[in-house]
Amino acid sequence: MTTLDPRYNILFEPLQIGPVRTKNRFYSVPHAIGMGMVGMDGMIAFRAARAEGGWGVICVEETMIHETSDHAPLKTPELFLDEHIAPTARLVEAIKAHGALAATELAHVGSSGVAWQARAHPLSSSSKFPHYHINPITARTVDKKDIAAFRQWYVDAALRAKSAGYDIVYVYCAHDLSLLQDFLVTNTNKRTDEYGGVFENRVRLLKETLSDVKDAVGGSCAVAVRFAVEERRWQSNLNIRDDGRRVIETLADVPDLWDVNVSDWSFDSGSSRFFEEGQQEPFINFVKQVTDKPVVGVGRFTSPDAMVRQIKSGILDLIGAARPSISDPFLPNKIQEGRIEDIRECIGCNACIAELNHYTRVRCTQNPSAGEEHLQGWHPEDYPAAHDASQSILVIGGGPAGLEAATTLGKRGYSVTLADAGTEWGGRLVREQKLPRLSAWGRVVDYRLSQMQQMTNVDLYLDSRLSAEDVVGFEADHVIVATGAKWRGDGLGRNHHDAIPGHELDHVFTPEDILNGRLPEGEVIVYDEDYYYMASSIAELLAAAGCKVTFVTTASDPVPWTAMTLEMGHVIKSMNEKGIEIVVGHSIAAIESGAVSLTRELTKEEGKRSADAVVLVTGQLSDDALYHELDSLRDEGKIKSLERIGDCLGPGQIAQAIFDGRKAGMNFGK
Ligand code: ADP
Ligand code: SF4
Repeated sequence: MTTLDPRYNILFEPLQIGPVRTKNRFYSVPHAIGMGMVGMDGMIAFRAARAEGGWGVICVEETMIHETSDHAPLKTPELFLDEHIAPTARLVEAIKAHGALAATELAHVGSSGVAWQARAHPLSSSSKFPHYHINPITARTVDKKDIAAFRQWYVDAALRAKSAGYDIVYVYCAHDLSLLQDFLVTNTNKRTDEYGGVFENRVRLLKETLSDVKDAVGGSCAVAVRFAVEERRWQSNLNIRDDGRRVIETLADVPDLWDVNVSDWSFDSGSSRFFEEGQQEPFINFVKQVTDKPVVGVGRFTSPDAMVRQIKSGILDLIGAARPSISDPFLPNKIQEGRIEDIRECIGCNACIAELNHYTRVRCTQNPSAGEEHLQGWHPEDYPAAHDASQSILVIGGGPAGLEAATTLGKRGYSVTLADAGTEWGGRLVREQKLPRLSAWGRVVDYRLSQMQQMTNVDLYLDSRLSAEDVVGFEADHVIVATGAKWRGDGLGRNHHDAIPGHELDHVFTPEDILNGRLPEGEVIVYDEDYYYMASSIAELLAAAGCKVTFVTTASDPVPWTAMTLEMGHVIKSMNEKGIEIVVGHSIAAIESGAVSLTRELTKEEGKRSADAVVLVTGQLSDDALYHELDSLRDEGKIKSLERIGDCLGPGQIAQAIFDGRKAGMNFGK
């Protein structure tokens, strides 16, 4: 029986927040999960799992105070009608049943949404284009009556939140996603009345709203402000030398809690490719010097030592977490039980955010149960016992899919054998985590291996390339093939339906070559039709190795999928800094010795560029030959039961391979 390491005692000290008290310092900060009122059962199961895992406070995401505020088609919670109270009360009850405080981030998103659901006009401090959408509309400027109404919406929503049982009610002014931030920032606020111009005017609405909400519910609920102290995406008055600091000085002890971060979302939820754990510290470390009220902040904290340091050095009182609580809902309990090695650390890949940016429910690379708690009935820690523990399962391939399948089956109590042809565990991640900026992704492998190494019913074999004959000889009750995929070399991709002429030439490389250490020299064109991290990672690797790199893509924006993971701006900046030329909207028509022919997609105009080498990052092909051989043998009755998962079934994101692995593990014996 392991116990709490006394070094971490401070993380389990209670803390008073206005009229309420949290049992510990673990604070699951607001973060979208894309389920909304129609997905209330899913929302309840998701939040309750975190409450069960020991978080002292569970804060529900942006909860809309009016129909003019939405992120549709993304689904979000709502408290703008009395009929929203009853379903919300079910959510609150589920959170509180586990001893956590329940909090809600009441919000009006202003012109960052387009009020699609109600077909209303979005609101702004001054006429403004909705900046997260391309809709050809302009948000309307609110007048004095609208401002009075807005204040009342906040009060009404706060009263509904109180009726639903919430302990903490927020006023939201962060992420460049809030009407209140829109008033504060001079880039957006062009008003000439008492709500525009000097600081006292621009902060007026925030001040009034906060005071209204305190008057309405302050006696029984704590009132928090979520506030971005610095806008890092572009120059503005909202920075820690100017209004970012002045807001906190002005309102210092008015709220019961300051929940502070940086703006916009791509800097707040910065991916591990570009931001370290605790990266917000230089921006938020002044806050506790200015206020006596408790402060919560985030930093993708997964290490209890880093958390303790934040508290002991007087930066934070409460350890905020969105992604670490998605990735490991039981992180607090694991620390309390001295099970540090069992923490499923967030890898900072932002696959969770990509789903939301695609208007669907949250998913997680590390934790396949995230978002599936209700739909699939998956618990983050508890696994259904084996239907028959004498059953043996052979898993072929120790990449993300195979590792997850074997871990899940092992936890369920089956007799599992995991074999891989390579000399290291991790499949694609063995090599990919060595690419620039991707080392944190190795946690996918570390977590699963460390879990399996604690099990006596799982046998792990490296250096074991299995043939169909080997598999038949093994006589397993069930065989799972997770043999992955390989990058193709012929250039077929999104835009190329036939092989690229010249792809077979010696100076044409694939990601397989680069990952295996066969690097080109001189002037290199990296050609991207994959649209995620592989091509830009290779471009950076080659630039660091001394190549003159040109990044060519058929997309109209470089690496478009990274817009979903909030990384696009950071990738482009990084490539610019490394001197990598970026050419968008062009495809390779043909490759010849010393040059490539490019077609400009928009005009079909042809041109030539010199190149000593070309790296084709187009598509992948499943490594499924073994599966098909085994499938025939199954038909002949020589294999009892068989399935394929992960990239072997269809190449995709690591999150999908992990999901497949969990699903195979959970469904076996059903
Ligand atoms: P996924 O992302 O679906 O898990 P990966 O490509 O990461 O796929 O991993 C596939 C793993 O399968 C690789 O580590 C590879 O060495 C292994 N593998 C492929 N063929 C065999 C085989 N015949 N026997 C054992 N292992 C294999
Ligand atoms: Fe962390 Fe990635 Fe999971 Fe998001 S998807 S919580 S970034 S591991």
